[in-house]
Amino acid sequence: MIEGSTLVLNRSYVPVHVTSIKRAICLVFKGLAKIVDQQYQVYDFKSWSELSVSKNDEQVSMTEKVIRVPRVIMLQCYNKVPRRNVRFSRENIYLRDNNTCQYCGHAFKRQNINIDHVIPLSQGGETDWTNVVCSCIACNSKKGGRTPQQAGMTLLRRPAVPQYSLFMEISPKDRLYDLWHVYMNPVDFAYWNLDLKK
Ligand SMILES: [Zn+2]
Repeated sequence: MIEGSTLVLNRSYVPVHVTSIKRAICLVFKGLAKIVDQQYQVYDFKSWSELSVSKNDEQVSMTEKVIRVPRVIMLQCYNKVPRRNVRFSRENIYLRDNNTCQYCGHAFKRQNINIDHVIPLSQGGETDWTNVVCSCIACNSKKGGRTPQQAGMTLLRRPAVPQYSLFMEISPKDRLYDLWHVYMNPVDFAYWNLDLKK
């Protein structure tokens, strides 16, 4: 199966999700979604599968024929933007803190950032959104096994559960599809580019 993902829009062209190509084709096949192309033309499964497939098109083999890869689909009966929880992951902690040490305020490359437990595990701190922050190696070693207060250090801001952003679902590889950019919020988009530069 072809690599990468498909962007899922609701009927107002708002991106709500990212899914596998296989699942996207399945949704279209069942009539739950339609495919959107570069020219914003909308296709059901039949009309999409009748499109000719040229050498330059990304393609996927179905049992009977080869079709173009759908990179954007639109759900047919769903207009709400779902509320979601942001996955608690290392990657998303970097995104929330913008690769910035929460003690000295400097931005670093990811390989030079540690994830710091604000209240150390040894003092009963938890591993969750409200107790972990990005920290540079220098600040991290200065702080050692102490709380910020004990170490005489201050946090830039109190760590919290971040707001959901579709970007937290999108893998760096998938960020390259030009076809997706038009649907993305410019604020998110700026954030995304910032992230790529580092
Ligand atoms: Zn620092």
